[in-house]
Amino acid sequence: MRKKTQMIHGGITGDEQTGAVSVPIYQVSTYKQDSVGKHRGYEYSRTGNPTRYALENLIAELEDGVAGFAFSSGMAAITSVMMLLKADDHILLTDDVYGGSYRLMTKVLNRFNLDHTFVDTSKPENVEALIQENTKALYIETPTNPLLKITDIKKMAEIAKKHDLLLIVDNTFATPYWQQPLNSGADIVLHSATKYIGGHSDVVSGLVAVNSKKLAEELHFIQNSVGAILGPQDSWLLIRGIKTLGLRMEAIEANTKKIVDFLKGHKQVTTVYYPGLTDHPGYDVAVTQASGFGGMVSFDVGSAEKAEEVLSKLKYFTLAESLGAVESLISVPAKMTHASIPRDRRLELGITDGLIRISVGIEDVQDLIEDLDGALS
Ligand SMILES: *Cc1c(COP(=O)(O)O)cnc(C)c1O
Repeated sequence: MRKKTQMIHGGITGDEQTGAVSVPIYQVSTYKQDSVGKHRGYEYSRTGNPTRYALENLIAELEDGVAGFAFSSGMAAITSVMMLLKADDHILLTDDVYGGSYRLMTKVLNRFNLDHTFVDTSKPENVEALIQENTKALYIETPTNPLLKITDIKKMAEIAKKHDLLLIVDNTFATPYWQQPLNSGADIVLHSATKYIGGHSDVVSGLVAVNSKKLAEELHFIQNSVGAILGPQDSWLLIRGIKTLGLRMEAIEANTKKIVDFLKGHKQVTTVYYPGLTDHPGYDVAVTQASGFGGMVSFDVGSAEKAEEVLSKLKYFTLAESLGAVESLISVPAKMTHASIPRDRRLELGITDGLIRISVGIEDVQDLIEDLDGALS
């Protein structure tokens, strides 16, 4: 089945009993047992719910995994995956991971002695030297936020295999439509489904897919024990969002390419970051591991004042955190998504005060370009 078809016909579709073509919302917490201990596959909705299961089945199929899991947020998904590790284990992470993941590692999981080191995984030669005796996992994000740095998933998989590490990939920016990390050798792929997968700025959620039965059993145990599950209504909204994921990603990328061309040629813009640009340092890897470059672009206008001025003049780009929606969103990472990272560290990473990040939507691209042009001039 090709991807766009899979998004409509994959996983569990409709309802056998009634013929309903959309999966029903099973708004239920518990299930009648036919006799003591004899149930029909469902006992209690933390453990399993048919609407959530339909979604979990679908993400497993889209990521070409063995099983899928749905959580109440991207951070709930990431935290639950981290619970596969234990105290005194060590994990290596991409140095410019999502701000919330950085906070989770440095301010929460450190309390449980889960040790970590951040490394620029876009340079594979850096990674192996930092592996310790207690290193158990390698956690990468590609492309990253907001500089769209690319990490070679296959190279990371080789390193992980050699040292017996779990390879975990945050695939939020690429989506399973463009990139399937399990097929490049990752063990676990996860998403903030709040972004492209949901796609309509109306649900907070997280999804995970794993590549083995053993990991599936372990993660189901954690999901049921920790309980950070996605509810049936939100699960249904994601199933609905996924039906148009392919269409949206195609439309978003077509718009993005035109906006990138426009920004490249603008006097007020010093640098444009987009992995689809041949002079982007990650371009060569990006073309081999993903079939598209996505809809995230960052560009530098030189200073915090200029950035603020540009933002104040825009009509169609909504000033907001988050990304991946049908409407175009804009943000200043230094003041918003990455504000929890100390300024020195931000500058080290290249996140300057004048950096603007856009998440391109599916509006008419001519309106978006005119909007940007008006604000930049
Ligand atoms: C938003 C985001 C998260 C966190 O997801 P939430 O749904 O907001 O909890 C994790 N990783 C990336 C790359 C994100 O963009």
